[in-house]
Amino acid sequence: MTTVTTRQGKQIEVITQHELREPLTRGEYVRAYCHIHGSDHQRSLSINRATGWGHCFNATCNATVIVAEWNPNAATQLLHSHDPYNARRGYSFVPPAPRLPLALQPVLLHVPQQAQKWQQNEQRTLTALNRRLRTNLQHSLRAQTYMEDRGIPLEIAQETGVGYLPPDLIPRMQVAEQRSLLRRWAARIVFPLESPFGRGYIGRSLWQWRPGMNENTHKAVLETGETRRWIKTNPAGWFSCTFDQLADRLILVEGAFDRLTLLTAGFDATEVVALGGTTVQVEWLPPQVKTVVLALDGDQGGKEASERLADQLAREGFAVKISPFPQDRWGKDWNERWRRIGQECIWPLYAACSTLRSA
Ligand SMILES: [Zn+2]
Repeated sequence: MTTVTTRQGKQIEVITQHELREPLTRGEYVRAYCHIHGSDHQRSLSINRATGWGHCFNATCNATVIVAEWNPNAATQLLHSHDPYNARRGYSFVPPAPRLPLALQPVLLHVPQQAQKWQQNEQRTLTALNRRLRTNLQHSLRAQTYMEDRGIPLEIAQETGVGYLPPDLIPRMQVAEQRSLLRRWAARIVFPLESPFGRGYIGRSLWQWRPGMNENTHKAVLETGETRRWIKTNPAGWFSCTFDQLADRLILVEGAFDRLTLLTAGFDATEVVALGGTTVQVEWLPPQVKTVVLALDGDQGGKEASERLADQLAREGFAVKISPFPQDRWGKDWNERWRRIGQECIWPLYAACSTLRSA
């Protein structure tokens, strides 16, 4: 194993296939126990067989690897840039390409989960329906009442491309495959997602929701049934503006409704990104981004993720600030607090942003 640090400061472990510990093939991926952080509990190392690129999903390890035999060109190139002596020993040296913006460097992207055929069709079907879903939001009293209950004005939802898929749309689809692909999206608020691998979608179920029912009650109702609260396409991505429009200072939140809440409170659509979870694909951040404010949820998971992401982003050269989350009875995420105490819930975030500005 050779650790190579790229010019962008990213560490890549160039490994050979013999180093893989108890590898198992899972479709297009090989899973192995990670010899880099030395764990035998889970096969956290996942490598794409076609590209040789892989990633350790253990959060404290987070290693990016390449298996030399499976992608000899990229491995050779990395080793040459690491040690020019190798180059002089006569490997076929491929000169490095001119530097691309971070978001376009394919070599540094974590290997995306290869989309299966049905996932590609699902993504295409939703994209083809996109305009109709957005119109449906304007015409669905149910979806609008839901947004209203969550304190989100319809205009904010519309401006950010949010749609709704009413159940009665499905029987009206002409193609049988589309009807079957869309079934799991019925009665969902649909949010568009951005990623370097294309447009994705995430959908929030309104199944069994009734006007006046609060988010936590609805969550509990859904947990007793078969319907998942959230589903995503593959690729998924961030609920944000397009990457080239992102501001130089970003506020990262966990959920789509957290982003809508901050936009309702007056933040700009170009500065708030919903991650759809608690991990950041740092390599997706375009070059204009300099500063990141972490505004994750106030629960234990959000707090731990904030510390981890702050470290990760600081190591990559970003100025980082964690927005403190008040530990009181008004809720653990932005949307819940917004519904209960309104604009006041944003004050800690304003404070975090202003200390950064003066720094
Ligand atoms: Zn690992």
